[in-house]
Amino acid sequence: MSEDLEKIDCLIIGSGPAGYTAAIYAARADLKPVVYLGLQPGGQLTSTTEVDNFPGYPEGTMGPEMMEDLKKQAERFGTEMRWGIVSQVDFSRRPFKVVGDDGKAVLAETVIIATGATARWLGLESEKKYNGYGVSACATCDGFFFRGMEVAVAGGGDTAAEEATYLAKMCKKVYLIVRRDELRASKAMQNKVMNTANIEVIWNHQTEEITGDGKVVTGATLKHSKTGEQKQIEIQGFFVAIGHTPNTDVFKDQLELDEMGYIKTIPGSTHTSVEGVFAAGDVQDHTYRQAITAAGTGCMAAIEAERFLSSGK
Ligand code: FAD
Ligand code: NAP
Repeated sequence: MSEDLEKIDCLIIGSGPAGYTAAIYAARADLKPVVYLGLQPGGQLTSTTEVDNFPGYPEGTMGPEMMEDLKKQAERFGTEMRWGIVSQVDFSRRPFKVVGDDGKAVLAETVIIATGATARWLGLESEKKYNGYGVSACATCDGFFFRGMEVAVAGGGDTAAEEATYLAKMCKKVYLIVRRDELRASKAMQNKVMNTANIEVIWNHQTEEITGDGKVVTGATLKHSKTGEQKQIEIQGFFVAIGHTPNTDVFKDQLELDEMGYIKTIPGSTHTSVEGVFAAGDVQDHTYRQAITAAGTGCMAAIEAERFLSSGK
């Protein structure tokens, strides 16, 4: 019986920068938030080493430590953290029913979705081995570490074109490895790539292996998509830019998503297509995908949840 279920004011799904920041604000507004941590407590930044661009850390910080700090800050104001993932939601009426993978259900007056997005990887063993040691899926995050070096970007869409042109500003040379004989990227981005002197497009090639000295990346073995012929390039950084998948499977029949599967929010807000359900961070943002923007929208979501509840709706 739904009357017997636990009732809470604010449920936050996900524990990355968006979820924890939403929790800090919601807890300070006395909403007594509950956070479902998910399979990756602390989110994407727990899979990296240095974070140099989050304001407030003049010497930079380590991703896992930063997320532990955010968690403690949210707990300090009374946030309750729960292990497990949300496997089912019913947003058809309020309070919203949310079910965890342990089968336990809660009723929430407001829900903040902060489940992030997952970078797509090529699926190579060497990609895993050198992740964080030359392999990255984020030029804005890690490009700085490769100043003056030679790097490669794999992919042919707007993300790859954007990453390549961004890296070209600081790196000596950028190879753009494209598996077909054309780019999927928009014409404008294609022009940027073609007009950047230190980007060399390697058409019709796939990455066979990322090579290294056991510690860091030193090159990549490429294979021609049609002839199978192999070639080797020497690089210090390898950026995978073949797209992201937003973590929205659980919500796809409940909320409006865009054509790429990201949660649609009303511009300038975190309101979704269902009143009382808010979305923050990478799950609703395929443009910026940064910890600080995720944290910013997490803050917005908590403020909007608080205003929604106090409006008496
Ligand atoms: P995420 O951090 O992706 O967190 C999502 C959370 O949702 C996780 O806790 C997950 O467990 C949870 N979750 C997912 N599904 C469910 C579910 N069904 N139920 C419950 N919980 C669920 N950005 C920077 O600004 N600077 C950097 O230096 C930087 N470096 C990066 C390095 C790497 C290797 C990566 C991968 C990303 C990096 N980023 C960096 C990007 C940054 O990590 C993301 O933009 C940011 O983490 C997004 O925050 P988020 O809270 O939206 O989601
Ligand atoms: P995308 O458009 O899906 O492109 C992915 C690219 O990666 C494609 O070129 C694809 O090749 C390639 N690819 C996929 N799997 C691969 C593999 N295993 N090996 C090698 N290459 C692989 O993804 P996206 O570039 O992230 O863009 C997603 C959306 O965001 C698009 O709508 C895009 O326009 C938008 N976006 C816009 C901007 C901007 O406007 N500034 C910036 C970023 C993203 P194929 O082409 O052969 O399939």
